[in-house]
Amino acid sequence: MNDLSSPQLIDRFGRKVDYLRISITDRCDFRCVYCMAEDMTFLPRAQILTLEEIYTLAEAFAQLGVKKIRITGGEPLVRHGVLDLLRDIGAISSLKELVLTTNGSKLTEMAAALKQAKVKRLNISLDTLDAVKFRAITRTGDLSQVLAGIDAAKEAGFERLKINAVILKNRNHHEVCELVQFAVDKEIDISFIEEMPLGVVSAHNRAEAYYPSHLIKADLAQRFALLSSISKTGGPSDYFNVIGTNTRVGFISPHSSNFCSSCNRVRLTVEGRLLLCLGNEHSVDLKQVIRANPGDMAYLKQVIVNAMQHKPEKHEFNLHEQPVILRYMNATGG
Ligand code: SAM
Ligand code: SF4
Repeated sequence: MNDLSSPQLIDRFGRKVDYLRISITDRCDFRCVYCMAEDMTFLPRAQILTLEEIYTLAEAFAQLGVKKIRITGGEPLVRHGVLDLLRDIGAISSLKELVLTTNGSKLTEMAAALKQAKVKRLNISLDTLDAVKFRAITRTGDLSQVLAGIDAAKEAGFERLKINAVILKNRNHHEVCELVQFAVDKEIDISFIEEMPLGVVSAHNRAEAYYPSHLIKADLAQRFALLSSISKTGGPSDYFNVIGTNTRVGFISPHSSNFCSSCNRVRLTVEGRLLLCLGNEHSVDLKQVIRANPGDMAYLKQVIVNAMQHKPEKHEFNLHEQPVILRYMNATGG
């Protein structure tokens, strides 16, 4: 059993948790078909954590040995005050990495400020290089804005940039080589993600749209030489170097290559629920804890330590059944 004299978060299976993903808003300017329903209702303000509460929770996790925090959403850059929050979290001295996932729509205005706020790396979502398909997948997005955002992020000089692409059969699977070539030309990394069944979506059938990582690898092998890499970023990607380039290609394969045995992360939803696993509903209500016990850091940390005992061994996703997990990805914090 864990205690507070050794500030570490260890679960029942001996896995050390040192990575926290925080969803700072469920709102977004896009409505990606795999992430949200078209007519989403968003949470009322009283139900979501304030920026001060998010900071307090980040600090508690850092005191418990968390070294990496990813800020995500929804679209994190649409939340008012995000830069102040990032500056505050970026100043926590024990934290090694503050990173952010974004859809890229606001990067032309915000990339330089994010760099100044000590954000080390950015993941930028980009599923297609075709403007019409981009609009169809995101329902509201403008490809040229995101491409300009990627250039602005390059200009700002982040340590590393990575594209995240969710690949759906017959929607964008034909484009995997073009996406890698784009990453090579920009000298950035790219990860391909298998779609996960979170929330009910109507635009496609998830089982039919499943395009596993091994097929993407086979498609890429026609054009690129990939060499398995030992590099890890503390996330679920398996990396390969594209030989002769500065680009790494990652595969996040929740279905075809379960990564649970090395899971080192937990998620905080914008409602203040600590999710112990992406694919299970086990959670602890930390918003209730901080609102009922204001200023009591010791108690908050003890609750977090105890919560690790509820981290499930693994996720079980089944694309052929109605989703068991009703929360959407935007409420989960991808
Ligand atoms: N709005 C930001 C963005 O799109 O990058 C951050 C939040 S988004 C939920 C984080 C990541 O989750 C994105 O790369 C997105 O493509 C991915 N994602 C969303 N829904 C998903 C799903 N059902 N399965 C797999 N990945 C998903
Ligand atoms: Fe918004 Fe990101 Fe979800 Fe797309 S994946 S709807 S950009 S939160």
